[in-house]
Amino acid sequence: MKIMGVKELWQVDDKTLAILWTDKVEQHYDVVELRRKCPCAACVDERTGKRTLAPENVADTVRPKLLKSVGRYALTIQFSDGHETGIYTFDYLRNL
Ligand SMILES: [Zn+2]
Repeated sequence: MKIMGVKELWQVDDKTLAILWTDKVEQHYDVVELRRKCPCAACVDERTGKRTLAPENVADTVRPKLLKSVGRYALTIQFSDGHETGIYTFDYLRNL
């Protein structure tokens, strides 16, 4: 599968991120939802693929503090609750 590239990434408001993909598709993300869908090993059981993070354990007030790109295939988000271990691949984001 071809990995989609990110053309632009910006913050629409304090709880919404937007990505413009290289094929001109624009997607908006609720950052609280992104936090609840964190794909890291602390939030998902790597063996079973089952989510161990309960949605209610993520406050509705959580916000992104810092976004960092990982190579050309993913980004990490440092959230205001201190969580920052999730690597959100573009493939994952594209299919949310
Ligand atoms: Zn996580």
